[in-house]
Amino acid sequence: MSKKKVLIYGSGLTSRIIKILLSEDQYELYETSPPKKNIQTVLHPHIFSSVFLRYLSKYVIKINIFKKIFREEIFSKLEKKLQNYKIKKIIFENFDFKFFENEIIFFNKKNKINKRFDYFIDCSGGCKIIKEKLQNKLITLYLSKSTTLISFYVKVLFNLFKSKIFRNNTFFLKNFHLTILNQKKDIYSFTFVSNKKIDKNLCERFLFKLLSKNKYEIIKSIKWFHSKSHFIYPKKDLKSYIPIGDAMMKTDPRHGLGATLGLLQCIFVSKNLDKQNFDDYFDKYKSFFNKIGKKKSKIFRRKKLKVLFRFMPFYNELRILYYLRNQKKLFSEVLELID
Ligand SMILES: Cc1cc2nc3c(=O)[nH]c(=O)nc-3n(C[C@H](O)[C@H](O)[C@H](O)COP(=O)(O)OP(=O)(O)OC[C@H]3O[C@@H](n4cnc5c(N)ncnc54)[C@H](O)[C@@H]3O)c2cc1C
Repeated sequence: MSKKKVLIYGSGLTSRIIKILLSEDQYELYETSPPKKNIQTVLHPHIFSSVFLRYLSKYVIKINIFKKIFREEIFSKLEKKLQNYKIKKIIFENFDFKFFENEIIFFNKKNKINKRFDYFIDCSGGCKIIKEKLQNKLITLYLSKSTTLISFYVKVLFNLFKSKIFRNNTFFLKNFHLTILNQKKDIYSFTFVSNKKIDKNLCERFLFKLLSKNKYEIIKSIKWFHSKSHFIYPKKDLKSYIPIGDAMMKTDPRHGLGATLGLLQCIFVSKNLDKQNFDDYFDKYKSFFNKIGKKKSKIFRRKKLKVLFRFMPFYNELRILYYLRNQKKLFSEVLELID
C-alpha cells in the first residue's frame, strides 16, 4: 500500500514537532518553502510550562526536566533531529490549491502540474491565507482580549541578578506585570505584560531605573499585541484539513499556553491522523478554549516566606514537580486525549 501524503504548511514550532512525530514508514512528508527566518533568531516563545517540558521529553526529544534548560537548547535539539528526516519540499510560489473532503489538490499555475495530498496540516500560526480560502468550510470562535507584551533581551553584567531572588520571577506592578527569566548565561528576558497601553519607551525607562547602577545592554526587543483569542476548526465534511498550534487556537498570551497546546496537539494528531476522526479532539479543545477564556490570569504575590523557600535543598526539583502536578490538572481534558 502506498504511503499517505501529508503536506505540512508553516515553519514554526509545531511544524517542526509534527514532522518529527509523524512516522516516515506510514507517511510521505512534504513541507512548503523553508522559513525566511530561522526560528532560533525569533524571540518567541521563551517560557515553557512544566507540562511542555515533560511531554516534549516523553515524545519528541530527550531532555532532563529537572536541569535548567534554555530555549535555544530546545530549538537546536529539534533542528538536529530534523536533519535525519526525509521531507520533500514544495516550492509554494505559483501554486494554488483546492480542498476536498479527503484530499487536497495543489496545482502549479505555471506548468499546470497537479499534486495530490491526503492531509494538509496547517501550522501557519496567525496567517490568514488558508483560512480565507476555506472560509465557509471552517467554524471560528472569537474572544476579545487586549494584551500588550513587550520583551527585551538584556545582557546583565552584575551578580545581583544571579541571585535566586531575582532569577525567573514575575513581579506584579501597578501598570504591568514584569517577568524576568534567565535565558542563557548572562542573558535575561524582561517581559512587560499589560492590558493598558504601554510602549517600549516606558518599559525602557523602567529598565533603566531598575538596572542603571549596573552594566547592562539591550540586545533585542519585540512588542506584540494580542487583540483576540480564536478557536478555528473545520466542518465535519473536511477531513483533509487539520489545524494545529496557533492556526487552530490562540489564547491570551498572559496564560503562556501557546507552546504547550501546540505540542499536545502535535502528539494527538501524529497518533491519530489515519483514524480520521477528530470530533472528540475538536470538542475537547473547544471546551478548553472556553474554559481558559473565562479564566483570569492568577496573581501570585510573592511572600517573603516563599522567597526563603528558594534556598531549600532540591527547591527547583520540588517546584517543577509541584507545577507539573498543578498544570496537569489545568490541561486534564486535553491530556486525556493522549495519555
Ligand atoms: C513574541 C511572542 C512570545 C511568545 N512567548 C511564549 C511563551 O513564552 N510561552 C508560550 O508557551 N508561548 C509563547 N508564545 C506563543 C507561541 O510562540 C506560539 O503559541 C507557538 O509558537 C505556536 O506555534 P505555531 O507553530 O502554531 O506557530 P509559530 O511558531 O508562530 O509558527 C507559524 C509559522 O508559520 C509561518 N507562516 C506564516 N504565514 C505563512 C504562509 N503564508 N505560508 C507558510 N508559512 C507561513 C511563519 O513563518 C511561522 O514560522 C509567544 C508568541 C509570541 C509572538
